[in-house]
Amino acid sequence: MKINKQHVEWVSETNNILHTIEDAGRVCYKSVSTGNHEEFIRRLIDAGHLSVLEHGNITMRIVTDRGISHEWVRHRLCAYSQESTRYCNYSKGKFGNEITVVPPSGIDKTTKAYDIWFGCMQNIEKVYIGLLDVGYKPEIARSVLPTCLKTEFFVTANIRQWRYMIGIRANKKAHPMIRELMHLAHKEIEKRYPVLVYNLSIDEK
Ligand SMILES: Cc1cc2nc3c(=O)[nH]c(=O)nc-3n(C[C@H](O)[C@H](O)[C@H](O)COP(=O)(O)OP(=O)(O)OC[C@H]3O[C@@H](n4cnc5c(N)ncnc54)[C@H](O)[C@@H]3O)c2cc1C
Repeated sequence: MKINKQHVEWVSETNNILHTIEDAGRVCYKSVSTGNHEEFIRRLIDAGHLSVLEHGNITMRIVTDRGISHEWVRHRLCAYSQESTRYCNYSKGKFGNEITVVPPSGIDKTTKAYDIWFGCMQNIEKVYIGLLDVGYKPEIARSVLPTCLKTEFFVTANIRQWRYMIGIRANKKAHPMIRELMHLAHKEIEKRYPVLVYNLSIDEK
């Protein structure tokens, strides 16, 4: 059984994303670019003219557990492609003949709680592989897989939607693991295009 940490990887964005958003916005006002995309985008955000941000898309790869992915995919204005427990057979060599799980947040590795969790995962793996060994397909054997099974998915969303999701999920009311992912997504955007998360308030970690 492998243990994996959740994380976020940048994949790609709309070509010339800031330029594209500015050009789209300037169509509305028939104004001429000064070349300062950031300043124009800040003005759009201050004015609440957020539909213009929909012209820019970002794609990320998210690695987390099935429970958190289930929460994430409730956000409807995104495109998703996710690892399938119907088609992936974790008893095969390319998966190392084992399942991969993400440890629950807040349970320290040195505690008895961690040992209890770990023991349970080992039993689950045994039962899952046992079902495959007696001839069941992964789509049937998966019924015993845990909520903390590692999964990964591609998510593509426009900037307005990224701002919305980060705004409500990088928040103290959200589950700590989706909160951590949204903080990471925020950091990835901020590193490359700080203006796209301009004036977006999120709870400190
Ligand atoms: C702290 C927290 C706790 C939660 N607890 C639960 C829970 O206990 N049970 C549960 O089932 N869910 C729960 N959720 C999920 C929540 O109900 C939403 O399904 C999820 O957050 C997706 O958000 P959304 O529907 O606002 O927006 P998205 O699907 O991300 O869409 C973005 C925005 O587009 C607009 N939009 C999208 N689709 C439509 C539409 N069909 N009609 C009109 N406008 C639309 C809305 O303005 C929406 O806010 C929770 C979410 C949070 C953040």
